[in-house]
Amino acid sequence: MAPSHALRCCKRALNWIPVLFINLVVGWSYYAYVVELCVYTIHSNAERVSYLVILHISLTMFIWSYWKTIWSKPTSPSKAFCLPSAEKDRFEREDRAEVQQEILKKVAKTLPIYTRTAGGAVRYCDPCQVIKPDRCHHCSTCETCVLKMDHHCPWVNNCVGFSNYKFFILFLAYASLYCIVICTTVTQYFIKFWTKKLKDTHAKFHILFLFFVAALFFISIVSLLTYHLWLVGKNRTTIEAFRAAVFPNGPDKNGFSLGFSRNFCEVFGHRAEYWFVPVFSSLGDGHSFDTRLVHIDPEQAKSVLQPNGKSPSDSETHTCVHQTGENLKEATDGVQTVTVIMENQP
Ligand SMILES: [Zn+2]
Ligand SMILES: [Zn+2]
Repeated sequence: MAPSHALRCCKRALNWIPVLFINLVVGWSYYAYVVELCVYTIHSNAERVSYLVILHISLTMFIWSYWKTIWSKPTSPSKAFCLPSAEKDRFEREDRAEVQQEILKKVAKTLPIYTRTAGGAVRYCDPCQVIKPDRCHHCSTCETCVLKMDHHCPWVNNCVGFSNYKFFILFLAYASLYCIVICTTVTQYFIKFWTKKLKDTHAKFHILFLFFVAALFFISIVSLLTYHLWLVGKNRTTIEAFRAAVFPNGPDKNGFSLGFSRNFCEVFGHRAEYWFVPVFSSLGDGHSFDTRLVHIDPEQAKSVLQPNGKSPSDSETHTCVHQTGENLKEATDGVQTVTVIMENQP
């Protein structure tokens, strides 16, 4: 085995340590709650059963969304965003950056791309050899370009992006719920042990520790959840919150914001019955996004994106309304969400 390959395998294995840590903490908390609290400490059967039911519901939803966040493969740009072979040959043979940019600009004209680098250049990923769609970024850990990349999360050892952002938020929400369930039900026993109203048993250590760990995790997770819910409301990724996307008329941190309810639906979908379930229901295909500023030609976007195969939401038919001032036009489309903006004419 080549040393570089061994090193890479070693790095990949080490990346799982935070996930292992979370699993160990959850495993221990489950043991402490079920065995030490419910079996050894609580004497009322009704109380024991009701606590166990609530715990298992919150734990199931938590583990389900955590699992989906970890194992949802990050979506990479489709082949439509690669340079056609003739342009690719010219691009590779060319040394002058400005000529390379001209080649990229020519190809980018056929794609639904509106954001640029800070210097106004077409965003191109050299390692992946692909023109980056709007909101797409290259992840050095995953070694690929990730659609609507939010951040690379070590706690799930995966990129959080278009394919799993909803799962990530649900994971934070259900993890918070799991911690609340533990904290609120353990509190009275915590106080009894603390004030020595219950006998000192081996359960004491577990229950005192359980309360502190759940409270600590709750505070950190709920602050992260609040931040991400705020980002959903603003239709911003974590990357865009730190560095605003650059549109033809300059950087705009609200460039993708379409109003709270549409921003929310972009991540959670239109159907309320799926909002709280970790199944994919986000809108669009991750390659093109409605913006406040940009005209998107639906025919252009369709012709570019259809050859790639279907996106997770392909079967979903929905209507989007994009409103700028008084004029609005609907574009209903069985394949993807494409919205046409009619600007107010003077
Ligand atoms: Zn890349
Ligand atoms: Zn990544």
